[in-house]
Amino acid sequence: MQIIKNYVNGQLLDPFAGQYIDNVEPATGQVYSKIPNSDEHDLEQAVVAAEHAQKGWANTSNEKRAAILCRLADIIDANADMLAEAEAIDNGKPITLAKNVDIYRASANIRFFAQAITQFSSESHAMEVVAINYTLRDPIGVVGCISPWNLPLYLFTWKIAPALASGNAVIAKPSEITPMTAFLFSKLCVEAGLPDGVLNILHGTGPSIGGPLTTHPKIKAISFTGGTATGAQITKVTAGMFKKLSLELGGKNPTLVFADCDFEDTVNNVVRAAFSNQGQICLCGSRIYIERPIYDKFKQAFIEQVKQIKIGDPLEADTQHGALVSKAHMEKVLSYIELAQEEGGTVLTGGNQVTLEGRCENGFFVEPTVIEGLTNHCRTNQEEIFGPVCTIMPFDTDDEAIMLANGTEYGLASSVWTNDLKRAHRVAKEIEAGIVWINCWLLRDLRTPFGGVKSSGVGREGGLEALRFFTEAKNVCVKYG
Ligand code: NAD
Repeated sequence: MQIIKNYVNGQLLDPFAGQYIDNVEPATGQVYSKIPNSDEHDLEQAVVAAEHAQKGWANTSNEKRAAILCRLADIIDANADMLAEAEAIDNGKPITLAKNVDIYRASANIRFFAQAITQFSSESHAMEVVAINYTLRDPIGVVGCISPWNLPLYLFTWKIAPALASGNAVIAKPSEITPMTAFLFSKLCVEAGLPDGVLNILHGTGPSIGGPLTTHPKIKAISFTGGTATGAQITKVTAGMFKKLSLELGGKNPTLVFADCDFEDTVNNVVRAAFSNQGQICLCGSRIYIERPIYDKFKQAFIEQVKQIKIGDPLEADTQHGALVSKAHMEKVLSYIELAQEEGGTVLTGGNQVTLEGRCENGFFVEPTVIEGLTNHCRTNQEEIFGPVCTIMPFDTDDEAIMLANGTEYGLASSVWTNDLKRAHRVAKEIEAGIVWINCWLLRDLRTPFGGVKSSGVGREGGLEALRFFTEAKNVCVKYG
């Protein structure tokens, strides 16, 4: 049984109180490792280490910081197979996806921000003959990064990379449901020569370590990705503490399919958008609106393809659909499938738990599920299910499609499938979301702003937005006239 350790001041440590929780492999349902359930004592030790390390790190040149981070990215690449296997075991996602998406992006995130910091510049505002203002952008100091279980190392690195690149010291908390790759990553940080205390990783639950991290007075900024309810809780407990907050929260993303789309390409990608990572990507398109003239044809082709998705052991290379992350999450997803039927929906394909033979017989597998016949305002279409469940609905006009798309409290991502240029731009302008993909899905350029509106979050990550978040602007006004 592997015992996960915290990473504090460059060392791999047991938690002070000696408390551990079980880490379950979703594909087998078996406990396979133990995770520290850290508390305030561990946090205090990490804060002291981070404070001590931060000044030196901030005074290290951008080039030197970038070189260390690029070395770390190279070490991730060199260990990609090991990390992908660990991610597939820990999360239940197919190993091929883990390698091509999660681990690929983990090193890309680090390399991207390492390079970005060497190109980061600040503004100056000349007041003609009187004075010049220039903006200094200094690191904040000690910052906190909290990440979820769905893309464990991918989102963990997405947060810590800009924080570290811009000279902050970081205390990071990965999800207690998928802690393994962050633990393995801490060993790679040692190998890369990251100075002690610059990054500290504390494992444990939200109540035991997440909450204390958000309210610690010396932690001046929190970058959080997770559920909307947790984001609201963090906002509440930090109110009046004047911390910078970046909140990347839940979604209930619409997919708009117009009759003039490239039919085959659209079917392929709408299936991918709905079911990648077992539907457990915050950007997955779970409400699919189809223009009425192609509704029946699209439905048929869509279902045919969904039925062909290969469910299996995440560790097999040809598996396309692995296990859901936990028993509790599987039960939540199954309860929504039941609710959808109570609300008048018809399950067109899927709808059931899957029992595999052999190693995975006790795993948390659920069939890719497509439901039709629901109204837009029912709970199934309003609440985030975050699993392999999507609904399909017809629409008649562009305005109706926009209204349906905007008809939830969320506003994270969306995708629009059409060959009509004017319509594409108009719909993109009208959709209430932080991200609109036209004729594509999950095509990511790391320089672009990333985040949501409404209950999907506050603030933007990515590119300069992230570097701005992790720095404080100071205006210096020099009068010379
Ligand atoms: P979650 O909110 O339960 O947990 C996220 C993290 O917060 C975990 O590390 C957890 O331990 C920690 N946490 C829990 N309670 C806390 C508290 N009171 N204070 C501080 N930290 C606390 O979310 P989850 O179930 O791990 O992840 C799924 C959710 O994340 C979904 O809603 C999904 O849409 C969202 N998500 C959003 C994005 C995005 O970019 N917008 C990306 C991925 C996932």
